[in-house]
Amino acid sequence: MMTTMQRRLRNAYSPLLDPSATAFDAVHHETGRVSIEQLRRHLRAVYAADARLVRVLVRVADVDVGVSTRALVEQEAGTAGGIEAPVGAGERASQPGDSTRYRIVLFGCQGCAASAAQVFYDERRIPMCVEHGPMELIR
Ligand SMILES: [Zn+2]
Repeated sequence: MMTTMQRRLRNAYSPLLDPSATAFDAVHHETGRVSIEQLRRHLRAVYAADARLVRVLVRVADVDVGVSTRALVEQEAGTAGGIEAPVGAGERASQPGDSTRYRIVLFGCQGCAASAAQVFYDERRIPMCVEHGPMELIR
């Protein structure tokens, strides 16, 4: 069952989420609620950091919100909001790694295949494996 919080977050971030996706390649963890623009920027950095990523689970404050896809995240924000739609956005396609301001850190569980990617490394907020506890820093 979906919790109320899960439903709320899912509605808030729905433009970035594919409701039919269940599998994912990595987990992006936001330790607190962020705006959709912030989440989009963070996810773009995550996808830019690893070309193999196609689907990334969005987790906000330990709530699994849903699965984002590279295509949805890389889409320009809709004309409705008009958020940071840069002139000449088409150029972006040739520059997949346009976000060098972020450093992605990857974590992995030593006990299973769970992994997590974070935009910032904060040693007070190490991602946790549900079954095995704190994950190890991979890079
Ligand atoms: Zn584990």
